[in-house]
Amino acid sequence: MIKFLSSIPNAVIIELTETLEGYRRDESHIVGDLPLAVVKPQGPDALRELVRVAKGEGLNLVPRGTGTGKAGGAAPIGRSVVVELSEYPGGISVSSAELALRASAGTFLRDVKSVATERGLCYPPDPNSWDQCSLGGSLATNAGGPCACKYGMTRHWAYSVDALMEDGEIHRFGIDSVKNNAGPNLAQMLIGSEGIFGIITAASLRLTHAPRERVTMLLPVSRWEDLPELPGRLTQNGFMPSALEFWDPAVLKCLRRFGPDEARRLPGEALAIIEFDDAGCASEVFLNMVMEAIGSMAESIRVASSVRQREAIWDVRRQTSVILKEQFPNKISEDVAVPRSKIRAFFEGAEKLKLPIVTYGHLGDGNLHVNLLFADKSGDAERNVISLFRLVLELGGTLTGEHGIGLAKRDAFLMLTDPWRIEAIRGIKKALDPHGIFNSGKVV
Ligand SMILES: Cc1cc2nc3c(=O)[nH]c(=O)nc-3n(C[C@H](O)[C@H](O)[C@H](O)COP(=O)(O)OP(=O)(O)OC[C@H]3O[C@@H](n4cnc5c(N)ncnc54)[C@H](O)[C@@H]3O)c2cc1C
Repeated sequence: MIKFLSSIPNAVIIELTETLEGYRRDESHIVGDLPLAVVKPQGPDALRELVRVAKGEGLNLVPRGTGTGKAGGAAPIGRSVVVELSEYPGGISVSSAELALRASAGTFLRDVKSVATERGLCYPPDPNSWDQCSLGGSLATNAGGPCACKYGMTRHWAYSVDALMEDGEIHRFGIDSVKNNAGPNLAQMLIGSEGIFGIITAASLRLTHAPRERVTMLLPVSRWEDLPELPGRLTQNGFMPSALEFWDPAVLKCLRRFGPDEARRLPGEALAIIEFDDAGCASEVFLNMVMEAIGSMAESIRVASSVRQREAIWDVRRQTSVILKEQFPNKISEDVAVPRSKIRAFFEGAEKLKLPIVTYGHLGDGNLHVNLLFADKSGDAERNVISLFRLVLELGGTLTGEHGIGLAKRDAFLMLTDPWRIEAIRGIKKALDPHGIFNSGKVV
């Protein structure tokens, strides 16, 4: 064992090169350096010692959940030790009175969601990786998902977080209740910080009552150009879907050709999935009102008539990025976001710039998964990505709606962001992590 790691008590320590290889990357294209070790702490004493050793040895502690991140945030750089909290104790507890759930960071998000559901409650954040990712990773990336258009992102559902900070201790940020105004909200600063300020060890999450009704619909459109109007059309008419997703004609074609059976039957030139969870949403009256709001844009509407059908539709949606990746292994995929009202302007701008893109994603909140399928062949890939970023920024949008900056978007973030903001983030990093032991080299 590496000598300086031998003082760490109460932890599983992995140093086998073949195993460490698997920790060099997440689900992005980034391949990081081989870490010195992976440490799975089993108690606060291990974390305390890890921080002491990191400061003494100049190590970079790289927090890792389950490595589903798409920004290279968990890829090690430099002399790194990966810190994985899957062995950290804590479990899950629910308070129905507080509508709160406490869980350790290493808990799978799927377990958080299913424990809430068993109590008739709901933890809404639903990144499409919910059945694979960890709670800690979803907090550190402020993950969003299809339901963000109605329910917001992970940060909107966290009361408090516990985090390992540079003094080697675990501190609690926030209280387990809605109202807390004692100073700036440091919990919110840790959420979405991609592990550069400290390591989240646990969180208290806000729950809501599980919706009693839900209706899922497929909405094929015959004119793809109409689809960007759909979110505005719905909100202006008093409807807020709990999910509103889309596939453009090229992605839909690819799914029909290479997707599972359900995908082969998908109708329309382009297609939206709309889901509502309001009381009464499954009634004919409600559906007629929705159809009236949508008007002639829709060719027809297909309502999922069973849980199985609903699951099959979502399964195709969840598999979309995997199917595209299988067919176009060198594609570049970005997750830009623009305000809902600017979605049409985005597509017009992309056409004017002749960006060779195909898109799908979260139509309801303007978070568009934009893919350059032939990035390897065009040679202009980097220029196209920067043009894409400039376009979304001009429209009041952002380089990333949910995946974060990590390493993958760091250069573009530094180039295109107000320098004062970058210096402010660096200043906060320096104040909270003066030795630079937490995931340094990421984001800024
Ligand atoms: C098929 C697929 C679908 C996806 N869909 C979505 C989606 O709909 N929405 C979305 O937002 N994302 C999505 N993602 C991206 C990713 O899954 C999410 O961001 C996820 O929440 C990351 O969790 P993780 O446990 O895998 O984190 P990791 O990938 O292990 O880490 C992600 C980042 O968080 C940091 N981190 C991890 N744990 C901690 C901790 N305890 N404390 C501090 N920092 C930590 C890491 O250092 C890294 O910077 C998807 C990914 C895949 C593969």
